[in-house]
Amino acid sequence: MNIGEYSATLSLASGGSLALVLDASESAEQAQAEISTLVTGVLTALPARVACRLFFLGNAMPYSPGDFPLKAAGWFRENRGRGSILAPVAAVLDSQPEMPVVIIGAGPIFDLEDWADTPLLARTTLVAMGQSLQGEMAYALEIERPSPNDLFQRVHDPVATVRIGGDGFMPLGWDNAGYRLSQLAGAFQLTSERLDEFGTMLHFLAAPGGCVKAVATLASGQSRDIVLEPQLAPTERFDWQGSLTAAEMNIFQAALRHEDFACPSCGGRHRWDVLTCTEGAALLGTPVYPSLKAQPGQFALFQPGQGTVRFRVTASDVFTLELGRVVVREGQRGTMYAYQPMSARWTASGLLQPYQPVEGGGYVVLL
Ligand SMILES: [Zn+2]
Repeated sequence: MNIGEYSATLSLASGGSLALVLDASESAEQAQAEISTLVTGVLTALPARVACRLFFLGNAMPYSPGDFPLKAAGWFRENRGRGSILAPVAAVLDSQPEMPVVIIGAGPIFDLEDWADTPLLARTTLVAMGQSLQGEMAYALEIERPSPNDLFQRVHDPVATVRIGGDGFMPLGWDNAGYRLSQLAGAFQLTSERLDEFGTMLHFLAAPGGCVKAVATLASGQSRDIVLEPQLAPTERFDWQGSLTAAEMNIFQAALRHEDFACPSCGGRHRWDVLTCTEGAALLGTPVYPSLKAQPGQFALFQPGQGTVRFRVTASDVFTLELGRVVVREGQRGTMYAYQPMSARWTASGLLQPYQPVEGGGYVVLL
């Protein structure tokens, strides 16, 4: 079968990050009050989850953004003599290649040319609160005297939605409950929106050598592809969670013969495919197999053996019947899908029947 079982980790926070670098040199002294107002406005607007760092030109030491409103005047004073030089901060910023950088000041940054055509200046916005920071040159995008809101909108572009999919992709498990399974024309995806944290561990089936990626769409509408690096996962070993009691085994055997059974809960008789007795006092009914300790909507696999019936319950929306064949929970029912290697897609092969026989001699039910 031309499909494999993989695991991968997606690391992706929504809020992103921001580095503010302030010019405290003499050329910016006149603009200091304006710079302080702008910075305070941006810091106020930033959601708490955004990792923000604050620096001064000519100084590699980070300052605490939270202390800015109280301590700004002193910080400007102590950095006055350092000069408009990017080098000391650039060394720190290079270690955080995803972080957008905003340099706010007035008058030229003397060593800006040294970073021409580097990734650092590609993610840098210069904010001129007086004279240009780059003179006649265009090393980086420069804007003049923005309002705090303008600047915030420009530099804060969080992830809004994420779609994970790819060749033959069929998610079996994921640990971020913000993701939902969806399907379009036989291509399965995990989707999420408006989360603080989009990162997740994934366990999935996919075409060997195919591409599985996450597409993150930002608030601005721009999108960014993150190609996952799947690790071949050992095919999940069956970990049996328990065995049916003698009374439950009687019900199970009757169900396989499509015969009514006597209900231990209400004392009445039920059709063979009943999984929850609704005749008793319990508002949500009483499960026919209480040993499973399962919730409605979960899949259970029963495996008859010598004098026992072992079981396993899974909370995932997808249950593997065999490699290349799965059952997907769609509302109250399960639909079986078979993998099509030619198109690397999945086609529905029928509804899951009660006590659906599966390879290996087991039976699957959707509780
Ligand atoms: Zn009953």
